[in-house]
Amino acid sequence: MKPFIVEYKSYYQSADCSILDKIERYSGYLEDHEEKKMNFFLKSPLLSGCENSSTIYDRHSSDNRQMTMFGSNNYLGLSTVPEVREAGIEAIEKYGVGSGGVPLFSGTHILQQKLEQKIAALKGCEDSMVFSSGYAANIGTVTGLIRPNNLIVHDRLNHSSLLDGSALTGAKFVRYLHNSPLSLEKTLEENHETYPDGMIVITDGVFSMDGDVASLPEIIEIAKKYNALVMIDDAHATGVIGHKGAGTKSHYSLTDGVDIVSGTLSKAIGAVGGFVASTKKIINYLRLYARSNMYSTALPPSVCASAIAAIDYMQTSERVEQLKQNYTYVSENLSKLGYSTGKTESAIIPMMIGDEATISLMARDFFENDIFVNAVFHPAVPPKQSRFRISVMATHTKEQLDRFLNVADKLGKKYKII
Ligand code: PMP
Repeated sequence: MKPFIVEYKSYYQSADCSILDKIERYSGYLEDHEEKKMNFFLKSPLLSGCENSSTIYDRHSSDNRQMTMFGSNNYLGLSTVPEVREAGIEAIEKYGVGSGGVPLFSGTHILQQKLEQKIAALKGCEDSMVFSSGYAANIGTVTGLIRPNNLIVHDRLNHSSLLDGSALTGAKFVRYLHNSPLSLEKTLEENHETYPDGMIVITDGVFSMDGDVASLPEIIEIAKKYNALVMIDDAHATGVIGHKGAGTKSHYSLTDGVDIVSGTLSKAIGAVGGFVASTKKIINYLRLYARSNMYSTALPPSVCASAIAAIDYMQTSERVEQLKQNYTYVSENLSKLGYSTGKTESAIIPMMIGDEATISLMARDFFENDIFVNAVFHPAVPPKQSRFRISVMATHTKEQLDRFLNVADKLGKKYKII
């Protein structure tokens, strides 16, 4: 079969013609995608909850398929545990489905405040506030804090929500080489005199496409030397690293040095929503100035109830330890097979393929083998670094992990990757 070639840019860049022209061109491209029975841009949806084994409706064949899930962010499998479901059901029965307002009007529910206290404690901060998503949390936090006279200093691989938030501030932002304290120091050295009104260093805690952990102690030391604030995005660190899933600060046994921690309730916590945790003063300021919170309806009480139950479950069960055992097993064995998996230390394992044509053929083969994986292409990752972003779950059985490794071995040899 001929490969499907992912061409993102040509369909999104302006071609000096009408607004709708790019859509015409993209539609033609999508026809090729559909003819080749791919699932990158239009998906074969889940018919079940997102579990270690999920039922997928194969929209090309109209079959229901039982597939092993290696593509979700539900790392701890918390979205379906009975305690978490029941907390949500009970809250829906008591309070209905919606919060009924933005947080500063009628939307602040007592369960939201309980959740905010729980998140603050988890992150070792005085206070926290929740948003409708992690994306909204990052946009709101960055736009709320930063003004055009500040400088934003990003790790090169930070998540798009942090970059999008930065663009909205009107401030200049620069990027240092990925997880390089040397490059960060050079950037701050070069800029600190030009920005006497303040700089902020922002980094993902666990990087979303590589699974590696930010060098936080060095980052803090350098930032403090230049009087810059430090913000971390713990979206993929929460529930995965640190004591009982507390995240990046806990991973390094740090109590100080990080000024702001953002994150999401949509990944290991298994629900939906985002958060930012910090000092009481900063959070009180953001309750008014984080526009993605102020102008957007509050999370439903049921989501808050489920997120509280999920954090409790995470802290009292063995799921975080099980997850670590599982991702260590998969990454070590993928390396043994000959795959390059970068510097992952988390549930996200990049299985590097490189060539985009090859990965599109392999993606089909994984699907045919009833293994659900996500292929990631430029611009989500740098050019020529396409990869499968393997996400391991605490609930995967040894048999499921071994079957995945077995298929990865066969396909790697078939396509001469290993
Ligand atoms: N930060 C990072 C690092 C992420 O990977 C994501 C989700 N892809 C987000 C923030 C946004 O979180 P959410 O999905 O809850 O909007």
